[in-house]
Amino acid sequence: MNILILSSEAVPFAKTGGLADVSTSLCVELNRLGHDARLLIPEYCPAIDRSLYTLDRVMSGLKVVLGGHEHICNIEKCRIPGTSQKSHSFVYFVQYGGFFERPGMYSESGIDYWDNPQRFAYLCKTALEWCLAEEWIPDVIHCNDWQTALLPVYLKTHVSYRDNPLLDNVKVLMSIHNLSYQGRFDSWYNPEIEVGPEVFHLHGLEFYGDLNLLKGGIMYADRVSTVSPTYAMEIQTSEFGCGLDGVLQARSEDLSGILNGIDESVWKPSVDKAIAKKYSLHGMNGKKACKKALQEELGLKVDENIPMIGLISRLTYQKGFDLFLSQLDALLSRDVQVVVLGTGDNNLVHWLDDVARRYPSNVAVALRFDEGLSHRILAGSDLFLMPSRFEPCGLTQMYAMKYGTVPVVRATGGLKDSVIDATPTSLEDGTATGFCFERFDGWDMIQALDRALDMYRNDAAQWKKLMKNGMSADFSWSSSAKSYVELYQSMM
Ligand code: ADP
Repeated sequence: MNILILSSEAVPFAKTGGLADVSTSLCVELNRLGHDARLLIPEYCPAIDRSLYTLDRVMSGLKVVLGGHEHICNIEKCRIPGTSQKSHSFVYFVQYGGFFERPGMYSESGIDYWDNPQRFAYLCKTALEWCLAEEWIPDVIHCNDWQTALLPVYLKTHVSYRDNPLLDNVKVLMSIHNLSYQGRFDSWYNPEIEVGPEVFHLHGLEFYGDLNLLKGGIMYADRVSTVSPTYAMEIQTSEFGCGLDGVLQARSEDLSGILNGIDESVWKPSVDKAIAKKYSLHGMNGKKACKKALQEELGLKVDENIPMIGLISRLTYQKGFDLFLSQLDALLSRDVQVVVLGTGDNNLVHWLDDVARRYPSNVAVALRFDEGLSHRILAGSDLFLMPSRFEPCGLTQMYAMKYGTVPVVRATGGLKDSVIDATPTSLEDGTATGFCFERFDGWDMIQALDRALDMYRNDAAQWKKLMKNGMSADFSWSSSAKSYVELYQSMM
């Protein structure tokens, strides 16, 4: 199959969240399964450091007209780092300074670029124009999030694509990685991104008078998917549907959930160069050294017996940091250490700063994006907390399990699908991997943490089993990629 994955980010080139990990891993795995999968993203500059990668020009002077303006771009490609010379795993880049040479990917100093609709509409149109110019016609175009949601709209409704026999059999899958980001804009943008009255209506991109790009993608794609089975159910309810629950219910037959995998060759403590000492399922001593090194690095009291709770996340309403902070005094009274790595909401940043000042030997806060530190926290912590309000899939709980760090999570979305709560039954049959709480509630969260701390302190054998269950769980991309292949095939 020819598969084009269209995304606004991809590791290691440009990343703000889990989408970047998913795009690259899925592309690599699809190629490994024998498909011709190509990943196309914008060539952000300076975010993508050309001194680190070899980018080869594969097409020059590709003309793309958008909203009456002509833009000329180049297409470049780069082998996905870590893949063999024999594999065909390449990321392709749209190089166009007018839209993508900026200090940020989506925003600057916290303010979104005013022309984001045009920038990503351009990405969608360029994807189609490139396929036609290259004479490489995908069987499936896999779009990801609102930035790519105009592609099915253009493909199905623009005369130049709709009536082009070359594109007759191209199917589109629209994947939702987080429904709370919908690409909602004033309808002033309509002519700029070639959205006309034939698609700007109740059953198209119109949403309470505004333009809603993701809604367009959901309405015009052949199939819709999201990143966990539970989230696929949740988004059809008013609690999680972010206003699009009715639209998603209407497409219920075409909606499925496939849990993301993780790159198990990267998130692997036995080969991880970022951590103080490597370890594995068969030799866990290194984990103690990692904890000590983390305590030293962050200026915490060095004591291997104090349970260390890690959090790594965007600091947003979604991730439940307000719930966590509201319970922090209660949590610290249980003699634990807490380490937080995150960036985001200013109120949460100030709150966290204040807490770290008040409890210098028990709380460490790093308010930056730091890939290396994220690995060291995963390796050095005993527990990993994710009290999310909602979580489409979540990757860090899976990373944590691979590092023998036991997750404590709210049972929602992908957290529910990937963490098996330690109950008498799951402990008995050896499937338990962590601790879950149902309601978004401080008391419930503390109870789950108490269950975890009790086991950590009083039942070392059971705790070790829990760590080992997580470390040996299969979160590889191979099973997720196979599910995507089945989905693509069912569309054709
Ligand atoms: P989301 O996509 O909602 O942000 P995920 O759990 O799916 O959440 O993915 C988040 C990714 O970003 C993970 O790879 C996580 O390790 C990483 N990450 C988040 N914040 C930071 C940070 N401050 N420093 C380093 N990595 C981070």
